[in-house]
Amino acid sequence: MGLTEGILELDGRIESAQAALRVSADGLHVAVTDLASRVQAEAQRAGAASLEVIRATRLRSAGAAGLALLLSLAVLWFYVRGNISRRLDNLSDMMTRLAAGQLDMRVAPRGNDEIAGMERAVEVFRRQAIANRTLEEARRRNEEELARHRNALQELVAEKTEALRGEVEAHAVARQKAEAADRAKSEFLAMMSHEIRTPMNGVLGMLRTLSAEGLPDAQLEQLRAARASGESLLTILNDILSYSKTELSGAHLERVVFSVAEVMQVIVTLLDPGAREKGIVLWLDLPEDAPAAVMGDMAKLRQILFNLVSNAVKFTEEGEVVLRLRARAAGAGRVTLILEVSDTGKGISAQARQRIFEAFEQEDGLTARRYGGTGLGLAICRKFAEVMGGALSVESTPHVGSVFTFMADFELADPALLAESVPEWTPDRAGRSLHALIVEDHSVNQMVARSYLERMGHTAVCVDSGEDALDLLKRERFDLVLMDVNLPGLSGTDATRRLRGLPEGQDLPVIGISAHVQEEEVAQQLDAGMDCFVAKPVSPERLAAAIAQVTGGQRRGVFLSPRSVSLPMGGARDGLGAMLADLGPEQTAAAIRLYLDGVGEEARALAAAVDAEDAAGVAKVAHRMKGAAGNFSLPGLSAGLRALEEAARAGDAGAMRGAMAAVPAEIAAARATLLRAADGLADQSKVAVNT
Ligand code: ADP
Repeated sequence: MGLTEGILELDGRIESAQAALRVSADGLHVAVTDLASRVQAEAQRAGAASLEVIRATRLRSAGAAGLALLLSLAVLWFYVRGNISRRLDNLSDMMTRLAAGQLDMRVAPRGNDEIAGMERAVEVFRRQAIANRTLEEARRRNEEELARHRNALQELVAEKTEALRGEVEAHAVARQKAEAADRAKSEFLAMMSHEIRTPMNGVLGMLRTLSAEGLPDAQLEQLRAARASGESLLTILNDILSYSKTELSGAHLERVVFSVAEVMQVIVTLLDPGAREKGIVLWLDLPEDAPAAVMGDMAKLRQILFNLVSNAVKFTEEGEVVLRLRARAAGAGRVTLILEVSDTGKGISAQARQRIFEAFEQEDGLTARRYGGTGLGLAICRKFAEVMGGALSVESTPHVGSVFTFMADFELADPALLAESVPEWTPDRAGRSLHALIVEDHSVNQMVARSYLERMGHTAVCVDSGEDALDLLKRERFDLVLMDVNLPGLSGTDATRRLRGLPEGQDLPVIGISAHVQEEEVAQQLDAGMDCFVAKPVSPERLAAAIAQVTGGQRRGVFLSPRSVSLPMGGARDGLGAMLADLGPEQTAAAIRLYLDGVGEEARALAAAVDAEDAAGVAKVAHRMKGAAGNFSLPGLSAGLRALEEAARAGDAGAMRGAMAAVPAEIAAARATLLRAADGLADQSKVAVNT
């Protein structure tokens, strides 16, 4: 028992404790609840009071905040208005003024805020605007200045232009006057030398006749002196005439195919006798590679070389003169020919070396006195050299000698053309000697043509008219006919037509010859039945080429003579030089004699026809005479006769008389020139010439 009872007792006690506890707890609960209610009531009261306080506080705060806001706004308004907006207004005002160009108000930045920054910027703008304005003003001033200068300059230019125009006009007038004066000088020189030449030739002719009169020795000596002076005067006149003619007409270029070697050879042949007389040797130096044929102005080249070599001979007392050719390829079918004339003569001083190329200039008075001359030869040579696009120069050492060099480019030509124009002096290409009929009414032309044919190895018979030719053809066999176009009676053209109608004339080669070389006239002759055509004056080269062509069966070749009737200068010397080379001195002298024998009669016939106003007769005689004169290249006479023929063909009696007025003097001059030439030839060939 003990334990259980102990436990039961304990339980009892616990239960009583718990009951007591429960009673206490309930009492506590009531007290707590009561306390809680009181606390809660108290709290509610306090809360209500707090809420009241809070509400009142809120109201106060709101009032204060509103007040503060009002205050702030007022402050802000004052600040904005008083500071920012006024300053901004100021700024805007400033900028408006700046924009309007009022730059005198300075902007002083206040403080350090953004507006102050803007104010500084505006101030910078203002200063810049001031600087710009200053610059602008300076620029405007400069521009105004510039405009003033420009205007002044324009006025000055206008003034100067006007003055210049006046000067140019004055110059043009002065130039025209100078040119006219120069021309007048040349014309005067040409006229005077021409006029003086005529009586001078008369004087010389008389002197020549006198020398055959068996005068005593002393008088013969005087006569020789008079003749020598006369001849040198004539040379001077010829030089002046040549020079003034080149001045007047301005040299023009001719183009023919020729062999330089041959031109040089002719010069040497012509001048060798004079050189020998002085005991000088005249050499010709031709390189192996010399071009066979070139195209260019042969006559001018010949004239240049003639002058240079004759000077060299003239100014050399002993030693030698060499005419040398060198050739250099110049590209594109061209060749540079360098022609040198060197001598061992007196030489030329350095001061005179350029001067001597001027007209009328000689080395010095001593040279002029000792050697005579006009000082025109080299001036003409240089002018020709320039026209040919070449150059003429000199190197010289006094008392040792001189070398004149002419250099110019020429076109290389086909030697076949040369072979046609400059044939070898053989019979025709087949080597056959031909029997030719020459139908030509002028005895000089007959003789010249026959001489050419004979030199080629042919034989020839001459008749004066177409009718005679047709007659003879029926009786005699010919291989070739040379038919002049202008014949008295039946013309060469009609004669050829009739000849073609004859059985023996059908295939006979006919070569037409005429001075009328216009295309349609040539075509007319060829259409009439001529096989080819050679222009008058006939040259042996062209004649040989024409013969070679017709006997070779070719037709319608036209061979215009390279030997122009109106050579630009020194006509007679040139023409006779060529004839001399072609025919030799004897035949040339004989041709001259024949011409001189007939020219007087012809001149009379011409004058009578002019007096009778027989235009057809004048045209015929003038044409005949012109053809004959052409053989000797007498340019003055040829030109006079041409003018007369033209006037006659135009049927203008007045013009005919006008043209006739110049002819007698030209005939006299031609006679004298030919007489002089014949005289020279007589010395060479010992052929006496009847004057
Ligand atoms: P001209 O021979 O008629 O006097 P040029 O014009 O031919 O005229 O020559 C002018 C001058 O040049 C000659 O007078 C002479 O003084 C000089 N002259 C020309 N060629 C030679 C030469 N080969 N040797 C020396 N002097 C020369």
